[in-house]
Amino acid sequence: MSVVIAFLIVGILGLILGFGLAVADKKLAVEKDPKLEELEAAMPGANCGGCGYAGCQAYAEAVYSGKAPAGLCSPGGAALAEKMGSILGIEVEVKERMVAFVFCRGNGEVTKTDYEYRGMGDCNAAALLQGGPIGCKEGCLHLGSCIAVCPSGAISKDEKGNIVVDKEKCIGCGKCTAVCPNHVIRMVPYAQEWICACSNHEPGGKVRKACQVGCIGCKMCETKVADSPFKVESFLSSNDWNMDQSNAAAAAEVCPQKCIVRRS
Ligand code: SF4
Ligand code: SF4
Ligand code: SF4
Repeated sequence: MSVVIAFLIVGILGLILGFGLAVADKKLAVEKDPKLEELEAAMPGANCGGCGYAGCQAYAEAVYSGKAPAGLCSPGGAALAEKMGSILGIEVEVKERMVAFVFCRGNGEVTKTDYEYRGMGDCNAAALLQGGPIGCKEGCLHLGSCIAVCPSGAISKDEKGNIVVDKEKCIGCGKCTAVCPNHVIRMVPYAQEWICACSNHEPGGKVRKACQVGCIGCKMCETKVADSPFKVESFLSSNDWNMDQSNAAAAAEVCPQKCIVRRS
């Protein structure tokens, strides 16, 4: 009998406490600004951290409180930046969408191998062993550390063994660029079509010995085509995105190494 009474007392106390907490919660609750709620609802929910904040909600709060500019969210892109601006009634700078690209087309068929690597399937681990097993020490190691960190499944290995990025799936978080030991993956404008897919800055003779598709710094892409957007520095060609791209295809045509590729 005394056990039943004890249970009853505990139950009644629990009810009273619960009621008290519910009342306190209502009374002490801080009203959330509808603008902040709107911002939070507009976020893509990718929580990739590419904006530099812990997740979408943290970034929305930072923009709301004026601690961060709108336009840092790659998955949301220009549409989200504009929406944030209209919710907060502020002007926003809409940045171009950036996506990842692998600046290397070397693979087992066209690139020399220095030794057989039997270590961990991790590019950073392989790079510690004499720069890795690939003859080109500035190229892709193909062990897929970038694939492992990509939150959107945008990176894969193609049939030749090259690492490729699906630009439609890329949310621009930059995690792959941070993990790559050779800085072979870098961000490029989404709309960019023609890219010199090589990262090797060594003189042409050395590049030729290591890889059949590396840039040899011959400058044909720069000098043989009028108004070419390609410029060669330190034996490596790169596209100046700010220049008119009308003659980029012609520059790719004259390249003897065929290392200027068209990104689909
Ligand atoms: S490809 Fe790179 S930048 Fe794009 S989503 Fe994956 S990790 Fe992020
Ligand atoms: S791009 Fe970089 S991280 Fe990705 S497989 Fe190649 S070397 Fe490794
Ligand atoms: S033509 Fe090709 S190999 Fe020569 S510098 Fe330009 S991209 Fe490199």
